[in-house]
Formats: sequence, C-alpha cells, structure tokens
Amino acid sequence: MMRILNFLNPLARLGVKKYSVWFPIILNLTVCIFSELYAYLIAKDPNIVGTYIIFINVGVIIYFSFRDGIRAGFISSIITVLYYLYIIQTRHFTGSQWDSGVETTFILMFLYLLLSATIGYLKQRIDQLIIQEMEARQLAEDGKLRLETILQQLPVGVLLVDSKGKKLEGNKHLEKIMGKAIKGSLERNNNYQSPKAFKEGKALFAKEWPLVRALNNGEVISGEELEFLREDKKNYFLRINAAPIRNKDKQIIAAVSTIDDITPEKELEQRKEDFVNMASHELKTPITSMKIYIEVLLSQIKNFHDPKVTKTLTSIKSQTERLQELVSDLLDMSRIQTGKLHFNKQEFRLDELIEETAEILQKTTKQHQIIFKGEKLVVNADKFRIYQVVTNLITNAIKYSPNGKHIKIQLKKSNSKAVVSVKDEGIGISKEQQKKIFERLYQVTDTHGRSFPGLGMGLYISKEIIKRHRGAIWVEGEKDKGSTFFFTLPIK
Ligand code: ADP
Repeated sequence: MMRILNFLNPLARLGVKKYSVWFPIILNLTVCIFSELYAYLIAKDPNIVGTYIIFINVGVIIYFSFRDGIRAGFISSIITVLYYLYIIQTRHFTGSQWDSGVETTFILMFLYLLLSATIGYLKQRIDQLIIQEMEARQLAEDGKLRLETILQQLPVGVLLVDSKGKKLEGNKHLEKIMGKAIKGSLERNNNYQSPKAFKEGKALFAKEWPLVRALNNGEVISGEELEFLREDKKNYFLRINAAPIRNKDKQIIAAVSTIDDITPEKELEQRKEDFVNMASHELKTPITSMKIYIEVLLSQIKNFHDPKVTKTLTSIKSQTERLQELVSDLLDMSRIQTGKLHFNKQEFRLDELIEETAEILQKTTKQHQIIFKGEKLVVNADKFRIYQVVTNLITNAIKYSPNGKHIKIQLKKSNSKAVVSVKDEGIGISKEQQKKIFERLYQVTDTHGRSFPGLGMGLYISKEIIKRHRGAIWVEGEKDKGSTFFFTLPIK
C-alpha cells in the first residue's frame, strides 16, 4: 500500500530523476476511455462530455508535469487535445459549432503546453537542486570521515577547540599522552597558574599555554617544549605546535594544537649529557697528571742535552695540552647544557688581555702576523672566560687562513659597548653558514674536500659566554674572501 502511495505521490518523487513515459500515456488514455464509457453507457448522452472534462484534464496535466517533468506534461496535453478532436469528429459538429470547437481546442492546446512546460521545468529544476545539495552533503560527509580517520591515525596528539576554548576534536594519541580523555573547555583565566605545565622549570599561567596563546592572541607557535606533570605523577616532555583558525573576515573561530611526546628523546639526550660530563671529568685528572709528569721529565733530561728526546717530549707535551683543551671544551659544553656555567666577574683592562693573548698566540704561527690596535677599555667580566673567547677567535683565524698573512684585531668603544673584531684573510664563510657556525657541534663541510681538525665546540661556547655577559657575537665576510668576527661587551 505504502509503495503504491509513494508511487503516486509526486512530492515523494522530488529529487528522483526517474521520469515515466508509460504511466502518463496509460492514465490519460484511461481518463478518455472512462469519459466515453460514462457518456455512452451511464448518462446515455454523448454530448454530456463538456466543461467538467476540461477540469479533469487540466488536473491530470498539472499532476504529470509535477510528477514526471516536461515530457510527461506534453504527453498528457497531446493525448487530451487528440481526445477533444475525437469528440468534435464523433459528435458530428457542423458549421460554426465545428469551427469554434476546433479553435477552442487549439487555444487549449497552446495553454496546456505552456502549463506543462512551466510546471515541468520547475519540477526538473527542483530535482536538480535537491540532487546537487545531496551530492554536496555526501562529499562533505566523506571529507569529514577521511579527516577523522587521518586525525585518529596521526602519531601525534591533536586538539581542536572552538573560539570559546571548548573541545571540538581530540585524537587517541592525545588521550595516550594526557593519560585521560580531554573534556570540556580550556582554562583561560589569566591568573590561573597551572600546577601541570612547566617551561624551563617555571609553572605556566593558563594564558601562556600555546593553544591559549593561539586562541587569545592569534599566535602561531612552532616546536615549543614544555614539561608536563600528569595526574599519575609521571613527568612528560612535550613538543607543541599551535595555530589559530580564522574565517573569511580574519576572526579567530577556532585553534588547533599538535602535541608530541618527546620524553624518550629527552631521556636519551640527558643520558648523553651525563656521559659526556662524566667522561670529561674522568679524563681531566689523568691528563693533568700526564702533563705534570712530562714537565718533570723535561726538566730532568735538560742536563743530558739530548735534542731528540727533548723534541719528542715537547711534542707529547703540546699534544697533551691540546687534549686538555678538548676535554675542557667538552666540560664547558656540558656545563652550558645543564646551566652550570658560572662566572667570576672582575674589572680588568680588555685591551691588555687581548694584547697578551695575541702575543702568546703569535708564538704558534710563523706565517701570520697578528696586529692589535685598540683603546684602553675597562670591562667587568669573567677574565678567564673572555680570554677563552679571544683565544678561540684568534686560533680560528690562524687555522682557517692557511694562505693568509695578517690577522688584524681591533678594540673600539661604541654606544657604551666595547667592540672587538678579529679579521683574517682566510677561507671565509658563506652567508647561509654564518648563523649556523655558532650552533653546537656545527662545522662547515668544505666542498673542495679541504678539511680542518676540530669538533665545532669553540664558537658555541664563545657565544654562550658573550650572551651571558649581555653582549653579542657575530661574523661578517664572504666565502673565499676572509672573515671578521665581532663581539661586544658592556662597559661601565
Ligand atoms: P672548530 O673550529 O673546532 O671546528 P668552531 O666552533 O670554533 O669549531 O667553529 C665552527 C666552524 O666555523 C668551523 O668548523 C669553521 O668551519 C667555521 N669557522 C670558524 N672560524 C672561522 C674563520 N675564521 N674562517 C672561516 N671559517 C671559520
């Protein structure tokens, strides 16, 4: 029953593009046959067929145009008009009666066709819109499903919140990291200090959380590292990205954050740091003893006047000193990493320190001439650490200018700062490498295959020392055209 009602109901067929041909033909013919049967058999008056049939026909034409579109409307109109002509023929109309009958039929035909074209067109257009809408909805649904699957499979935690901070989406990985499902809204209260999230040991205010910053200030945060204390008291290290999502008018409508658990990475890093720290401490003592024994030996054999033995022992001594420098660099690096690099500040003449250092290092090279020019300037700094920086810059200038002749050092005062420059005529550094050389363990790989010994620790340590003295360190120059290293220190 329902199926028959659905078949007949034109509203149920909206958005269905199956337009019947046979059903309008059959139903229209049935209407004509019934009309004839009624006139001849029941009313027994062939001329009774009159205005009422026009109403029935108009109803049928509207019905089919709305149910099956323009084509069905035309079929109904044509069958109806043929039936009218059949009536005119069989009822033996004469003279003016025949003329006005044919004329009315043609006017009606025109009206019926217009009616079915208009209604049929509307019906087909509605179908098209409904189908388009359904397809678009399906597409959006598919897209949502695809995104949901990707989101759940991502190996990082993802959290999406709306403009009020209410959670919209969160994936399985996020639950795994947080140890529980995230529910409700973000805490955005400015004065709320989190007992859970820490940055460099300091508890964060809610407004300082990356996702809150993205939502409140539109900040895009990339690779921020936080420590997170879970409810089960386990400590986690997280690397977090966050970004706001804006609408067409640039208003923030949501924010998204990705959260990566980097605890294993951090633990491995810590183990490496501990190892380097321990190894350098362990190496320091035997190397110092070795150096003392060599010095004792050297002073003892002085009386024997054996130049060969003296030469051998002197080179063992200088290699031991080199080893001592490397171990001390390793220790410094480890101190920087663990925040244990401490300074003993005192006032001293920077020009004197540089001059003395240049004189000592001049003894290590015959090829280069180290020239110093500078004003008398007093700084308040850790003298040994600044000596370490100056030594590092001059030894690098010697090492990386195998064909250079002069190394020019200058000391100037500029804007209550002491500015030191060390200029060489060496291999130079390309612009893109200039920032990287101050990174930990960074060494420039030479495309010409030339290699210089070193571990890439010197400039990193120098940068930390200068930074902690509230100064700056940088390099200028070009590849193959020599380099000039600068550093500044505040003066009183
Ligand atoms: P190391 O000299 O032990 O490799 P540094 O940290 O002192 O380590 O220097 C890092 C890198 O910077 C070096 O490997 C070198 O490629 C580049 N560099 C440093 N000083 C100079 C210089 N004066 N001229 C050209 N390159 C330099």
